[in-house]
Amino acid sequence: MAAPAQFTEYIDKNADKFIDRLAKAVAIPSVSGDASYRKHVFEMADFLKSELEALGVKVKLVPLGKQVLDGQEIDLPPAILGEIGNDKSKKTVGLYAHYDVQPPSSHSKLIDKPQALLSDGWDTDPFVLKVDEKTGRLIGRGSSDDKGPLLGWINVLEAHVKQGIELPVNLKFCLEGKFHRMEESGSEGLDDLINSEVGPGKFFDGVDCVCISDNYWLNTRTPCLTYGLRGICYYKINVSGPAKDLHSGVFGRMVHEPMTDLIHIMSKLVTPQGDILVPGINELVAPLTEEERKRYESLDYSIDDVHSSAGAEIAVSSSISEVLMNRMRYPSLSLHGIEGAFYAAGAKTVIPARVAGKFSIRLVPDMLPVDVDRLVTEYIKSIFNQLNSKNKLEVESLHGGKPWVADPNHWNYVAAAKATETVYGRKPDLTREGGSIPVTLTFAEALGVNVLLLPMGRGDDGAHSTNEKLDRSNYIEGTKLLGTYLWEVSKVTEK
Ligand SMILES: [Zn+2]
Repeated sequence: MAAPAQFTEYIDKNADKFIDRLAKAVAIPSVSGDASYRKHVFEMADFLKSELEALGVKVKLVPLGKQVLDGQEIDLPPAILGEIGNDKSKKTVGLYAHYDVQPPSSHSKLIDKPQALLSDGWDTDPFVLKVDEKTGRLIGRGSSDDKGPLLGWINVLEAHVKQGIELPVNLKFCLEGKFHRMEESGSEGLDDLINSEVGPGKFFDGVDCVCISDNYWLNTRTPCLTYGLRGICYYKINVSGPAKDLHSGVFGRMVHEPMTDLIHIMSKLVTPQGDILVPGINELVAPLTEEERKRYESLDYSIDDVHSSAGAEIAVSSSISEVLMNRMRYPSLSLHGIEGAFYAAGAKTVIPARVAGKFSIRLVPDMLPVDVDRLVTEYIKSIFNQLNSKNKLEVESLHGGKPWVADPNHWNYVAAAKATETVYGRKPDLTREGGSIPVTLTFAEALGVNVLLLPMGRGDDGAHSTNEKLDRSNYIEGTKLLGTYLWEVSKVTEK
């Protein structure tokens, strides 16, 4: 029972209408990281509620409490819980997406003047969907992250409801309005809601699998399914000494200098080749299996792709499988910055009184933040002790999140792979992401079911950058993919 031809034909015939729907959604600037735009996030929730209700979905907006943002206490955007279908003989698919967007520029706060936005690097107004007929690009903030994929599900519903085709599965939507800013550190309020809605008679009761469409193809050519995400541990190393900033002409070589100690410590964390020097870290990593190695060798990605996305020829190895494994299945340690360091132009001869070095480690299975914290702290203290410095050292853990990996041989993935072959005529790549989407782990742990990441957009969509776009073909074929996936799930007989 593949998706009926009527379904895919409807998607093709109504493509322009679906693009209009995306334009309406992009026009609502639901930026969650700026308090002055909070009302638009609520407006977006109302927009989705009415779209879903018009198609027969039972919807409730669940308040998630308050937060402090930009010095004000404001309401968190609601979670949208929606359900359609309650046929016990069918599978029930849980769907997650977020309806908020990043600020137009990740470097500055929102500015009301479009002129200022344009000078921030956008070629067009980020909140007016630009349909570029020549390139086939749909350009606007949120087009790819995550409004396009979210509306993809609504388009799928419409194609069924408007034509009187019975949905092949029951659906439960969980839509979030405050994903961004919290991306690396968990979703305020939503985790608690998900955990409280598990169990007999609760909202998520009966969900057989979860599908999240909120990431990207590895490249611009090949559809993929994503079965893993790295976690993260973020650290701050504080080194302090003198009571105030000193002058090197007076105190140079008379006292222990905090910056010297810090640089020494930071230089001992990772090699220029990316090898992590903290003892015990590599031992926590799950061993590579033969099946997995083959998967990396078959991914459609090249060193040239790495170079073009980095904008320079700087890959750490000429072996593409090695480079991809470094991103997807091995931990990485990155040095991010030094607070308190002199960084302006000129030649100031200051000895900073206290400095704080920041770095993070991306975690993979089976690394747990608690173990990594212990190893990192012990190691940094031992290096510092060898310095015989009279400065003070403190190691702080700013936040930690666990990695996630799913079984890509599970029926949920098999269904998505078949759907990809049907729609795109090729097998999807099986990828893991180097970053985090913490809600994935929340669903996996709270519901105890398989979670699938089924991306719609391409690797060059620029989701967190200027001129974010979704290719028209990815939106339209991606909508077919989401619908076809539901039909493939409905064929599965395993529990
Ligand atoms: Zn997203």
